[in-house]
Amino acid sequence: MIRTQGLRYQYPKGPQLAFADVDVPQGATLVLRGNSGSGKSTWLALVAGLLTATAGALTVADAQPGALAQAARDAWRARTLGFLPQKLHLSDALTVAQNLNLVYFAAGLPVDAAAVAQALAALDVADLAARKPSQLSGGQAQRVALARAVLLRPRVILADEPTASLDDASAAAALQLLAGSARQCGATLVIATHDRRVGETLAGAMEYRMGAA
Ligand code: ADP
Ligand code: MG
Repeated sequence: MIRTQGLRYQYPKGPQLAFADVDVPQGATLVLRGNSGSGKSTWLALVAGLLTATAGALTVADAQPGALAQAARDAWRARTLGFLPQKLHLSDALTVAQNLNLVYFAAGLPVDAAAVAQALAALDVADLAARKPSQLSGGQAQRVALARAVLLRPRVILADEPTASLDDASAAAALQLLAGSARQCGATLVIATHDRRVGETLAGAMEYRMGAA
């Protein structure tokens, strides 16, 4: 679940953003809409505890990320959230499988090679485990990043513009994979997007348009 009340963020050398309140039940899907620059990525960073709100209250999966000290917050994020960032941030110094192993290091858990293989297989990229990310197509890289995001069965999955560079068929497939992965984890799913195609494939999703606060 994600609940916000009176959430605001002031960039040190930038705009003050004020967000409308949301209350997303556990397991629900929220499509976060709004033009470029309206604050979608900032809102995701607040929910992920990567930024701390300058005002307001935020509850994510029964924690208040802003109230946690840095180390506790990092551990909480690693165990609770799956993040599919706009730039995928896969390390090309590592293989695909090793990129997924990093999730365990971040969470302070022992690497589970069988779970890594299973997560890659669930997204149909098991045969790419030994490759470097630069040897993947855009769609393959996104599947790998999604496998990484859901590896620890997170309570909340955040996806930032997941369809931005995809054609219609790939965009629909990416959304189905996201929704299916979230369903399997029982995770709350947030998709931040300015893509009008998102929504047609996500029946029953809640919507929140940025700039409406
Ligand atoms: P969106 O994801 O909807 O495109 P963002 O959350 O990235 O919007 O940006 C919201 C606003 O905050 C924009 O006006 C943007 O220019 C500004 N902004 C984003 N990041 C920074 C930053 N690091 N410093 C200052 N301003 C920023
Ligand atoms: Mg953005």
